[in-house]
Amino acid sequence: MTTLFISDLHLEAERPEIGVQFLAFLQGRARDADALYILGDLFESWIGDDDPSPYYAVIKAAVRELGNAGVPVFFMHGNRDFAIGEHFAAETGVTILPDPHPLELYGANVLLSHGDALCTDDVEYQQVRAMTRNPEWLAMMLSKSIEERQAFTMQARQQSMERSKSLQEEITDVNQDAVEQAIRESGADILLHGHTHRPAVHPFHVDERPVHRIVLGDWYEQGSMVEWDEDGPRLEELPR
Ligand code: MN
Repeated sequence: MTTLFISDLHLEAERPEIGVQFLAFLQGRARDADALYILGDLFESWIGDDDPSPYYAVIKAAVRELGNAGVPVFFMHGNRDFAIGEHFAAETGVTILPDPHPLELYGANVLLSHGDALCTDDVEYQQVRAMTRNPEWLAMMLSKSIEERQAFTMQARQQSMERSKSLQEEITDVNQDAVEQAIRESGADILLHGHTHRPAVHPFHVDERPVHRIVLGDWYEQGSMVEWDEDGPRLEELPR
């Protein structure tokens, strides 16, 4: 009886090796799980559920197959695939979760998040986040043609790449005050998130209560997963 957590695969047709590992994961380890949680940035970008890319069709079918095999799949938006919608959920059978999402797991109070909302030191990014998560903005964007959305996404990726080169490490990591506030408000014992691509287990105290922050890694060079059972959570690398 285990629950699996992954995030930050950043799947795209241009990096087929990540997809190959993900498909093997869905047909392998994930089959024995009680549930699979995907905590955002499954895809490098998402222009809308109507994207006709055959690459996405393969991924969607594989996720659907896991659900059909009896393993419920939960999905939380990341900053790259925030445009994933109800049509995708219907096609894949995933349940879309809000961010953050509290979960009781084998007796522990867990708070799930993608993690980007906790990076409050990056003020400029938080402004972009507020804009793109506004339902009206998203509806406006999704009303554009596929070509227009592709062009917009390409430009946004370019800008984000140039920007991250000039940013200091600490600015793009989570803010400890934001982390402690989220833990305090939710009463969580463990905060589990991705986004920063800095896989680690951080023990600390909030109001003298021992807590942990577990960070999932990205899948660029290898996989990263948290496997959780009665014995607690384990952060694991998945060699390619
Ligand atoms: Mn992210």
